[in-house]
Amino acid sequence: MSDTDADAPSTTESNALRTPIVAVLGHVDHGKTTLLDKIRGSAVSDDEAGAITQHIGATAVPLDTVSEMAGSLVNPDDFDLPGLLFIDTPGHHSFSTLRSRGGALADIAIVVVDVNDGFQPQTIEALDILKRTGTPFVVAANKIDTTAGWNPNEGSPIQQTYENQSQNARQRLDEKLYEIIGNLSDEGFSADLYWRVQNFQKNIGVVPISAITSEGIPDLLAVLMGLSQRYMKEEMAIDVSGPGAGTVLEVKEERGFGATTDVVLYDGSVREDDTIVVGGVNGPIVTEVRALLQPRPNAEIRTEKRFEKVEEVRAAAGVKIAAPDLDDAMAGAPIRVVRDQNVDEVIDEVTSELAEIEVETADEGVVVKADTLGSLEAMANALKEAEIPILRAEVGDIAPRDVAVASTAREDENKVILGFNVDVLSNAEDELEKTGEVRLFRDDVIYQLVEEYTEFVEERKRAQQ
Ligand code: GDP
Repeated sequence: MSDTDADAPSTTESNALRTPIVAVLGHVDHGKTTLLDKIRGSAVSDDEAGAITQHIGATAVPLDTVSEMAGSLVNPDDFDLPGLLFIDTPGHHSFSTLRSRGGALADIAIVVVDVNDGFQPQTIEALDILKRTGTPFVVAANKIDTTAGWNPNEGSPIQQTYENQSQNARQRLDEKLYEIIGNLSDEGFSADLYWRVQNFQKNIGVVPISAITSEGIPDLLAVLMGLSQRYMKEEMAIDVSGPGAGTVLEVKEERGFGATTDVVLYDGSVREDDTIVVGGVNGPIVTEVRALLQPRPNAEIRTEKRFEKVEEVRAAAGVKIAAPDLDDAMAGAPIRVVRDQNVDEVIDEVTSELAEIEVETADEGVVVKADTLGSLEAMANALKEAEIPILRAEVGDIAPRDVAVASTAREDENKVILGFNVDVLSNAEDELEKTGEVRLFRDDVIYQLVEEYTEFVEERKRAQQ
């Protein structure tokens, strides 16, 4: 409580809480997209409140709109937050970098769990990331409308709807909800139905919802707002006009612009002509912002005028940045604006953030390739847990060099390449065929990839006995 004056930022906006960034995580098909669409859809059709704003890769929902959607559960006077920024790509791989290296791709998360399907590999993966990064989250127990005998009541708080169900329907849902609460506890989280939770920082709130009927979504938003407000007050009173900091979500070729990066800006601002440092496959890239692009409202997807240029973007926001030399930029990598600082210092910062993914390599082990820095980190963690040694770990598609490296392993079970969400370059295919001894495993679910490999190792052991 002593350093308030020492680092007081110089602008009048310095004490404004910025918009919290919300990520939606969970297993495939558990309803992440439907939930996001519902939140966006009801905000769009809500005439009285301020409209939502579509960003690159994210949707901003202003406080008034959140409050309209949450009805009596969110009183705008109770909050200093401008609203919520939802990242549009649910379950994005860069999420594994969530605040793991000083930056914040997201501040708060919703973990969606299908009540019928319960915990699944990507649910556990999401919880591992949240645990590691200390990110506050709420669990949405989705698809409650599928409970046999469910009697919907869209206008009421979910606790009331829940308590008004027939005994049979209540019992059926309770079984599923308590299984989820038990699974959360197995993962080290103390959780309960949200209306029984007193302290949402200590205990995880479970909100029963239906992304189809909207039941429980007002409650979910209310918990999210409460959690965000407390968290942002503690951590995030920031200067939104300082030099920007963000995370690269995607690297994309755009007609007329060349290679561009889609960025979530979590701190400060970025302006046209700013010098930026971006994490790249071959190290930091120093370049200058040519254009900042936002989606043009109601633009046809195929027209060239999909984007409009803006001069400045302030956190929190999603933005497409066009700049020279971005071809090697890397999804999951940090991006920093250089304004008053020395460019070398910023390069050092980005370099050390890139290096912070510490993959322990051994003399003998498998070769790992992944599509983003974040997923490479998640892969390395999963392999460490399974006690599988790594010889080399890199971001990028599978190249001939990877085949060459894998073939140098002494043990056959290490003559292996594990590819997460990557392609095989055609000359690497040729190389694989030529050597004939390197095994390739590819998947887009980390758990499955590790499992495929361990099954292969076990089968080999059995064959040798
Ligand atoms: P994602 O892969 O997690 O983004 O899942 P989706 O949002 O694509 O949902 C997967 C399927 O579940 C789709 O067919 C949805 O219509 C369905 N679904 C999602 N939420 C609900 C819900 O609350 N109730 C019911 N009955 N179906 C749902």
